[in-house]
Amino acid sequence: MLRRILIFFLLMPLFSISPAQDISFARTVIRDLTSPSMHGRGYVKNGDKKAAVYIRDKFDEFGLMHFGKDYFQHYSFPVNTLPGKITLKVGDKKLVPGEEYLIASSSPTLKGTYELVWLQDAEDSARAQELLSSSGHANRFVVSEMKRKELDKSNPYGSTGVINLVDSSENLWWHVSNGRDVNDYVIISMREQLINRESANISISVKNKYLDDHKARNVIAYVEGTREPDSFVVITAHYDHLGRMGKDTYFPGANDNASGTAMMLDLARYYSMKDNAPGISVAFIALSGEEVGLYGSGYYSDNPLFPLEDIRFLINLDMVGTGSAGITVVNGTVYKEAFQKLAEINEEQLLLKEVKVRGEACNSDHCPFYMKGVPSFFIYTRGDEYREYHNVKDREADLPLTEYEDLFRLMIEFIDNIDE
Ligand SMILES: [Zn+2]
Repeated sequence: MLRRILIFFLLMPLFSISPAQDISFARTVIRDLTSPSMHGRGYVKNGDKKAAVYIRDKFDEFGLMHFGKDYFQHYSFPVNTLPGKITLKVGDKKLVPGEEYLIASSSPTLKGTYELVWLQDAEDSARAQELLSSSGHANRFVVSEMKRKELDKSNPYGSTGVINLVDSSENLWWHVSNGRDVNDYVIISMREQLINRESANISISVKNKYLDDHKARNVIAYVEGTREPDSFVVITAHYDHLGRMGKDTYFPGANDNASGTAMMLDLARYYSMKDNAPGISVAFIALSGEEVGLYGSGYYSDNPLFPLEDIRFLINLDMVGTGSAGITVVNGTVYKEAFQKLAEINEEQLLLKEVKVRGEACNSDHCPFYMKGVPSFFIYTRGDEYREYHNVKDREADLPLTEYEDLFRLMIEFIDNIDE
């Protein structure tokens, strides 16, 4: 207890100067990572590689060490992309990609004008059966009530494509996790008010490019511990995002996960300073391929650069741009003692409104590590002040970073506690 109070007072002057600095550093990183030149940090135009180089340069600037000959760990995976110009018209009306409609990342190349078949209402289902068994729907688009998830798996109509209507209360969310394979049909998610039963046809142009061996990389650095260099605290954050859906639309991914990447880099910067030299080593792993299916963390945990057993604790940061309602800690019920400590520090220092416990969930990059026995938390912020997610509006300018400084401080105090 005494020691903690002492540390607290020692850090006081530092914290009274640095918060403003911390948030401006984070803002700059998030702005850079979400700029159009990074192409949404996906697979089109090697946006993810550009982000990797940016992170490497930061590690280098802070004078961090690397395990291999440089900071990169290379690997590859197959993924479908939609790099070309995408257009969609209902009748004569041209729609706005990203805002009014999305084309599933699993789509093939397609160009043409297609008649619509409506199978929207429950009363249609008998007719649907009839239609399905008779002529089929080749060269037509079916407007379907089927859930997107079901449609991703298969197209029961045998049509050229399917239109999935989204009402105004729902979000238009794009994913690349269903883009690992190319389907032989196109799925369009569309705002329902843009189309009706009088709409005779749609005209579409979309071009896919299947990358059977997309080169990706994790970016890894560390600060060596002064006392116990072979024990590690690890901070992970995925820097990749969804990239581009066509030439004119990209997904900035400010909250997901430029925010976590910024905090990871901020912690790297903090521990690289002489006065903050940690007793045990602190490693920073910027992961790729998360959006397509936790590929980067999967690859790293299968090919670790130092023994996984040397990881004392791992903290994965994914979407930390809010915080008005506090944070959630995945695996909090698994590592009870560590969770207790985290909650205690938070309470003592009056940081976040709530540190909420959650059980295990394989929903981010901590998971492959956890499956291999690495003690780990996945931390994300909560709050209704910002709700943009997997859409074209997840932008830096609107991201509040409500509790960024308090979470940053909580992380440092927690790491220092592991270090004792
Ligand atoms: Zn995501």
